[in-house]
Amino acid sequence: MSMPDAMPLPGVGEELKQAKEIEDAEKYSFMATVTKAPKKQIQFADDMQEFTKFPTKTGRRSLSRSISQSSTDSYSSAASYTDSSDDEVSPREKQQTNSKGSSNFCVKNIKQAEFGRREIEIAEQDMSALISLRKRAQGEKPLAGAKIVGCTHITAQTAVLIETLCALGAQCRWSACNIYSTQNEVAAALAEAGVAVFAWKGESEDDFWWCIDRCVNMDGWQANMILDDGGDLTHWVYKKYPNVFKKIRGIVEESVTGVHRLYQLSKAGKLCVPAMNVNDSVTKQKFDNLYCCRESILDGLKRTTDVMFGGKQVVVCGYGEVGKGCCAALKALGAIVYITEIDPICALQACMDGFRVVKLNEVIRQVDVVITCTGNKNVVTREHLDRMKNSCIVCNMGHSNTEIDVTSLRTPELTWERVRSQVDHVIWPDGKRVVLLAEGRLLNLSCSTVPTFVLSITATTQALALIELYNAPEGRYKQDVYLLPKKMDEYVASLHLPSFDAHLTELSDDQAKYLGLNKNGPFKPNYYRY
Ligand code: NAD
Repeated sequence: MSMPDAMPLPGVGEELKQAKEIEDAEKYSFMATVTKAPKKQIQFADDMQEFTKFPTKTGRRSLSRSISQSSTDSYSSAASYTDSSDDEVSPREKQQTNSKGSSNFCVKNIKQAEFGRREIEIAEQDMSALISLRKRAQGEKPLAGAKIVGCTHITAQTAVLIETLCALGAQCRWSACNIYSTQNEVAAALAEAGVAVFAWKGESEDDFWWCIDRCVNMDGWQANMILDDGGDLTHWVYKKYPNVFKKIRGIVEESVTGVHRLYQLSKAGKLCVPAMNVNDSVTKQKFDNLYCCRESILDGLKRTTDVMFGGKQVVVCGYGEVGKGCCAALKALGAIVYITEIDPICALQACMDGFRVVKLNEVIRQVDVVITCTGNKNVVTREHLDRMKNSCIVCNMGHSNTEIDVTSLRTPELTWERVRSQVDHVIWPDGKRVVLLAEGRLLNLSCSTVPTFVLSITATTQALALIELYNAPEGRYKQDVYLLPKKMDEYVASLHLPSFDAHLTELSDDQAKYLGLNKNGPFKPNYYRY
């Protein structure tokens, strides 16, 4: 399953102009209680298509590389507890109550709650930023009165987020943004804890929309905030409950797809609610692209092939954020790494980092592993595949399964042999085998897991965006799509520093004056590239 196309963002000039217009200090109410500092925000316009041209299939999207990029791919570290052994009765047909007598939920099996609770507790250990957010806000309840309707993957990590929102005063009703990714035992634990959760692994498309509707359509309860991952919930409320939509105070959107759709809606002048694009916040991007891939490239390759990297010749196509992460990990294990690039700046960076920059044709006969991470298409062609040596491993870390021309391998003279889950041997008439992983889809999302710490960054970003939108005074946010203010991005990072016992240096008054900064940040202009 491929990820949606990334959305182009406007240029830096535009960013600067907008940042200037809306520069503002001492505004972000919740954080101000903690950090007392000036903040900035920037807002991107976009020129995408109509929001209403909306796909309504559910098995597809998008662990937008958040948690959310690929829909059918498993990304949770927890094995699901009962999926194969459970009975076939649809949860919609079952009468279930939690231990307090509530039946305000629909999950696979409420009896799995205890096991799910353990999964949540394990996740909490690597999500200390959210736990510290709960502690810092104690007594303050920045989300008191917030009625959040959410649609995300339902996993141990998102459960930590949902329970944080509840601890901060919100009422939550939740459904899954993906029909396959729900951890049933976690959904059960949430239901046992009193969260109105409607989700189970293996929902039908009809179930998917039914669950969303059950979250939104409840007598005596009207959502005033949306937390979405992929845009389906937002679309549902927009289309089916326009009166509810008009009264929403803010939408927080996680995925590339959902953000894209919000920009479409905004461009069409139909977005009557402020929305926060958390997908493009700096901290999240760095973790999703660079650090997460640095960890998961080796995991994905080893799980599928048991390959040893020392001395292996690897070519990585694309030296952007993902490529840099992959190369750092491969180099550390003693692989000989070649880079292909189209951009002289990235190519020069690769040289400075000690890699050989080559054309793919120059090395294709000799390499043991080929990895694409360009976001482009047809980077590895049939001609390249024909020239690879026996046992060459080919995989993709970019969003789309078109980086490797897999279609060109579906020809009668080539034999495909499925040797393991996500591993195909494609065999040429002379007996040569190429090892194709995940049929050219994202390797790490298909074959490995996303570290909880990465998900913690995303979840903390989402929580702060909700707090900010909910508490923002009238007029701070208009009916448009905003990026998370830089100050809050910095705050997300700062909440994660204690995990490493990292100690920040504080600016002296004199230094702050010299640099023209507020002592409490933001520490960089919006156009700064980290
Ligand atoms: P990026 O823009 O920083 O890097 C891509 C690089 O590829 C650029 O430097 C570009 O010049 C280069 N490139 C483009 N076409 C090329 C070609 N034909 N040959 C060689 N180089 C080429 O993007 P990124 O953040 O590194 O993301 C890369 C891809 O990975 C995107 O598709 C993104 O959506 C995806 N992604 C994957 C994960 C994951 O977990 N696997 C995480 C984040 C992003």
